[in-house]
Amino acid sequence: MTSDLRKSCIVANWKMQGSFKTIAQLLTDIAKGLTTSANTEIVICPPAVYLQKVQTILSKNPALKPIRLGAQNVYCESKGAFTGEVSAEMLMDLGCQYVIIGHSERRTLFFEDDTLIARKFVASYHAGLIPIICIGETEAERTQGKTVEVIYRQLEAILQHGSIEMLAAGIIAYEPVWAIGTGLTASIEQIEVVHTAIRSWLTNKNLLDAHKTRIVYGGSVNGQNAERLMASDTIDGALVGGASLIANDFLTICSSVIARV
Ligand code: PEP
Repeated sequence: MTSDLRKSCIVANWKMQGSFKTIAQLLTDIAKGLTTSANTEIVICPPAVYLQKVQTILSKNPALKPIRLGAQNVYCESKGAFTGEVSAEMLMDLGCQYVIIGHSERRTLFFEDDTLIARKFVASYHAGLIPIICIGETEAERTQGKTVEVIYRQLEAILQHGSIEMLAAGIIAYEPVWAIGTGLTASIEQIEVVHTAIRSWLTNKNLLDAHKTRIVYGGSVNGQNAERLMASDTIDGALVGGASLIANDFLTICSSVIARV
């Protein structure tokens, strides 16, 4: 059972996968089995070059209408000489409503630090996007007992450039780095400890509506484990990588989230 104060959210992160052909097929397959609920948001984040294509397909197929469009990345400036980058305003122009920020792959492979991530968060917020901020510890940090410390540091970093109200208006995705793309799902107890710590952190910042911020889990969520994971009312949904590219798995995940409302 989820909180009636917060809409659940399922975010599909397609990463750098797909082609015009496979994306069209995947969306056709999703459309065949998709059930939706007013209390659950479904967001698809394709590679940037396919955003427009996905937007067109979503707007033409009534079965896909409830799905919102999100981007996997954004730059922190609105325009200028930043070769290869895409601004939050441009994403808005394309019809995006959400953007993933601070994904561990961007932190690690593209050396994004807390400052850049905070600036991206603030730029997205100001442009009107809903930022989905990813935070999470590595395996070594967990072993050293530093999980909550790391998560608090990543949240605090946003406050260096933005405000607690901005952070609360986004979606917080707890994604333990060791669980992403590894098949190693965090246990429900591990997730609950961290989600409760995040909620306490929000409350301790004197945020009036700390109970309203969505906190979702990401890390090897699939069709087999979704129902079990989504049973906790501390988990407001899922950020899904690999399994979001398999229509049946993704539909099962969506049904598991919708069923608990
Ligand atoms: C992700 O990309 O954020 C993710 C959680 O991937 P996966 O579901 O494949 O672990």
